[in-house]
Amino acid sequence: MFLTIQRFTLLIISLLILVFYSIFTYYFLKQQNSMAAIVLNSVQNDMSKTSYTLSRYVKKSQNISRSRALLDRVAANNNFIDAIVIMDSSGVLLSTDPKYQHFEFPASSYLEDFKPYDRLMHTKILDGDIRFYTDNGKLQTLHLFFILDKDELDIYFSKNRGDFILYFGFFPFLLILGVYFLFKKHVVKPLEKLRQFAYYQSEIPKKFKLKELESIRYSMVQTFARLDAEKKELYRMARTDSLSGLANRDSLNEYLHRLIADSQRNNKEFALLFLDLDHFKTVNDSLGHNVGDELLQNIASIIQEVLRATDFVARVGGDEFVVVVNQYSSLIELTHIIQRIQEQLCRQWIIQTHPMYVDSSVGVAIYPKDGTDIVSLMKHADIAMYDAKKNGRAQYRFFTKELNKSVQDTITLDKEMRKALVNGEYQLYYQPKIDLKSQKIIGAEALIRWISPSKGMIPPDVFIPLAEENGFILELGEWVLQENIRQYRAWRDQGIDLKLSVNISTRQLLDADFADKLLLLVDENEIDPKKLDIEITEYIFMDQKNMKCDVLDILHKHGISISLDDFGTGYSSLSYLKKFPIDCLKIDKSFLDDYHTQDGAIFIETIVKMGQTLNMEVIAEGVESVEQVEYLKSIGCHQYQGYYYSKPLNTDAFEKLFKASL
Ligand code: C2E
Ligand code: CA
Ligand code: CA
Repeated sequence: MFLTIQRFTLLIISLLILVFYSIFTYYFLKQQNSMAAIVLNSVQNDMSKTSYTLSRYVKKSQNISRSRALLDRVAANNNFIDAIVIMDSSGVLLSTDPKYQHFEFPASSYLEDFKPYDRLMHTKILDGDIRFYTDNGKLQTLHLFFILDKDELDIYFSKNRGDFILYFGFFPFLLILGVYFLFKKHVVKPLEKLRQFAYYQSEIPKKFKLKELESIRYSMVQTFARLDAEKKELYRMARTDSLSGLANRDSLNEYLHRLIADSQRNNKEFALLFLDLDHFKTVNDSLGHNVGDELLQNIASIIQEVLRATDFVARVGGDEFVVVVNQYSSLIELTHIIQRIQEQLCRQWIIQTHPMYVDSSVGVAIYPKDGTDIVSLMKHADIAMYDAKKNGRAQYRFFTKELNKSVQDTITLDKEMRKALVNGEYQLYYQPKIDLKSQKIIGAEALIRWISPSKGMIPPDVFIPLAEENGFILELGEWVLQENIRQYRAWRDQGIDLKLSVNISTRQLLDADFADKLLLLVDENEIDPKKLDIEITEYIFMDQKNMKCDVLDILHKHGISISLDDFGTGYSSLSYLKKFPIDCLKIDKSFLDDYHTQDGAIFIETIVKMGQTLNMEVIAEGVESVEQVEYLKSIGCHQYQGYYYSKPLNTDAFEKLFKASL
């Protein structure tokens, strides 16, 4: 059985208290007895003196009453004497206290063996004799009794007891208690903290007061710090590839475990790239492992340099690396990252004076499409990598054929789209806007077309979304604005003075210089801003921070009108209608398609009414039949646009149509 320090302390203190109180009791009793002896002696002394005095002066038992004054004095002088009584065989002759008039002759008790205190406490009366010779020479004996004052004795001894307990009992008790608390504070508690620290290594205890404890604490802290550093170093070593310093396979597995769980929760995708160096074996075989190792080290640091902090790279085999990319906005961006790695690796290396080139093949698997667990993702990226090698190395490949194709197509489109601008392959087509009352052309919307020499006419749906994604729309949009203004001037010179609308992407509108550029164009070409309309979609208002954008205000103030395209399909909060200077609502084609159903009609009529209330023009898009035109007229819609009147036309065809309509 073990004792706790606290119990041990308590035990020691209890023992101390026991020893201490034994000594205390011994001295207390001794002191009490000596005091009792003194009291007994004083009373006995008084009695002997009284007895002697009376023996000398009393001659007759009858005149004993004359000695009353003497007895009173003796009784009064000694606090412990309650009364003095003198008796002969017939009864009380004299007593200092009337309550003893009928005092009985007490039976004698033998108390010689008792200790003084007990004797005193058991004795009520001390007796003695008064012997004298009467006038006729006869020896006579009277009995003298000293009756002790019990109350006075009790008070005397209990006061003594109280003092004793106070000085010998209470103060030492306080002292022991103090020692106990000090011990607890400076020994027990610090030791407990040390124990906890040793056990959980949680909180490092503060410095201790006691030197020995402090040195134990200090060495403990040192030891744990060292152990911790060693543990971390071991962990790092277990997780890194000693040659390259990159993460190893274990570490990759651990990372992927976490990433997969995370991506599953947040519904996100990530890409796992399997990168293999081409012809690395030749380097190793021809120039030796030393050179090979050094090359690998260099390659590892280059890969790490190219990647961003959020990417992860591990070396999983001789010349095999796995890169995990989990933040990319599109597959195109991902291909840029891959290309960057490949370009950086494909340089002339000089290792130990040997010049060499390194190409790499990359296979890509996408979570979750190409696999939802580590094994299948790795396997599929590996397959894609072999596919890249088979196709002539120094390439990257996606795991699925479709993805591979669509990525390649997008990349081609990206390139060609930009080239098309340089080659002047874009054209603006115009679709007339018709006034419902007069049935006259009152404006036109510019719609871009790509006339490719090889593929023919490519509609904007094919390339505008990509241009918006990769930012090319900024360049292309500028061309559209310039071309539209050039066309406006050309038509104006011919007497065709129509208000022309251009479509503006959100990305263009958020470009800081957009308003300046547009106003400069208007200024330089000396055109009436009232002849220019921009069509924007309500998606721009979806992002709260765009709600502050004042570009619309600026343009509106300069006289350029603003139309809300595809109205009703997007963001449903209409607060922006009040906040922004919208001049025209364009009812989306999808509502027109449903105009004959109750739901469709309700939508169209609501939008028309809203336009009337807010003092905005309302134009219906995608109008394809005469019934639709009649319906729109009947509900008071202002304008329409659609195949019914005309498809978007090239400028020549538009001119002809316009002239014919006059
Ligand atoms: P949008 O601005 O909503 O343009 C209306 C689209 O509906 C045009 O398609 C037009 O040809 C088509 N359309 C017009 N009337 C009818 C009809 O009666 N029936 C049918 N089925 N369709 C009709 P388009 O020209 O292919 O343009 C598609 C989208 O591409 C446009 O939608 C616009 O968002 C975008 N776009 C076109 N040109 C430009 C441009 O220069 N800049 C930007 N940023 N976007 C453009
Ligand atoms: Ca439009
Ligand atoms: Ca539209």
